Amino acid sequence: MRFSTKLIHAGEPEPRIGGALALPIFQTSTFEHAGRSGYHEVKYARLSNTPNHDALGAKLAALEGTEAGLVTASGMAAISAALLATLGAGDHLIAHESLYGGTHGLLTQDLAALGVEVTFVDANRPETFAAALRPKTRAFYVEAITNPLLQVVDLDAVVAFARAHGLTTFIDSTLATPVNFRPAERGFDLVLHSATKYLNGHTDVVAGAVAGSAAGVANVKKKLDHFGGSLDPHACFLLARGLKTLELRVERQNRTALAVAEHLSRHAAVAEVFYPGLPGHAGYARAEAWFRGAGGMLSFRPAGGAGAAERFLAALRLATSAPSLGGPETLVTRPVTTSHAGVPADERARLGIGDDLVRVSIGLEAVEDLLEDFERALG
Ligand SMILES: *Cc1c(COP(=O)(O)O)cnc(C)c1O
Repeated sequence: MRFSTKLIHAGEPEPRIGGALALPIFQTSTFEHAGRSGYHEVKYARLSNTPNHDALGAKLAALEGTEAGLVTASGMAAISAALLATLGAGDHLIAHESLYGGTHGLLTQDLAALGVEVTFVDANRPETFAAALRPKTRAFYVEAITNPLLQVVDLDAVVAFARAHGLTTFIDSTLATPVNFRPAERGFDLVLHSATKYLNGHTDVVAGAVAGSAAGVANVKKKLDHFGGSLDPHACFLLARGLKTLELRVERQNRTALAVAEHLSRHAAVAEVFYPGLPGHAGYARAEAWFRGAGGMLSFRPAGGAGAAERFLAALRLATSAPSLGGPETLVTRPVTTSHAGVPADERARLGIGDDLVRVSIGLEAVEDLLEDFERALG
């Protein structure tokens, strides 16, 4: 099956249950005992093994090109279960320095409290990786496209280094989606998603996903079973429904984001645009080589500084000021007031996240209407 067909048919139960084309919601906590023995084999919704979980896991694996897939109660449930399944007291992790805020907090606060140490590196500078290595280094963690500057780090160098030193590689591929990029094909071990974003794509579910080898995903599932971050069957149904249009949505968001990025990059009231589909962006060559499209996220700096950024947000009529991303509605934020409010100002400055930065999650509106809205607000 091609990717488009997998979105519709992969993982669906055969034969169809009761002939139903849309897999019904198995709103049951428990199932009649069927002679299974181990704790993790008992059929119980927290153990993520209802027909809704099974179908979604199989579809995700087909989409990412991995042996297995698993859905979780949130992106953070996927990330925390995957990290906790791999790292224990005394272990060490190498991570790219720009990460989703929740992940950064998990690594620096919660994993640190459990005795797991982390060293941050610039994953664009592979020559610095060796200095971060320790005898107890177990894993390397990166994101496929970073937020809010949309970096595409040297993913091939990360995989090569990890292989040479026996490290497990994690990649949060939320912003890329399997439409644009399938990290397992480039050698990553565990692919993580906030399915809250593009995979569901309708701003109405919080969910997460893990894809990887059968053994790797089973290992994560054991942690998830114990920590309790299973996805509710009704949310599974909504996620399965949202997933079917993933390619249509992401293709449109790729096109609209590129058009908006190009427009902004020519605009006199805009100082700088960050979008990996623009030739001037540091990640352009990698995005061209590895991705089908550069995604639906972009950010920019208006020419007039933080005040202009604030006035721009206030003047928008169509685009909404809100956190999160990947839905049908275009959303804008100033990362310094939302996602990166907790990052100290000097660290933000070092990472290049200025007070004037505006982040945009492109939705599914007509590009002409978005351009008009942006044009008016920039004016
Ligand atoms: C939103 C997000 C997460 C966290 O996902 P939740 O579903 O909110 O738990 C993790 N990584 C990235 C890149 C995200 O955008």
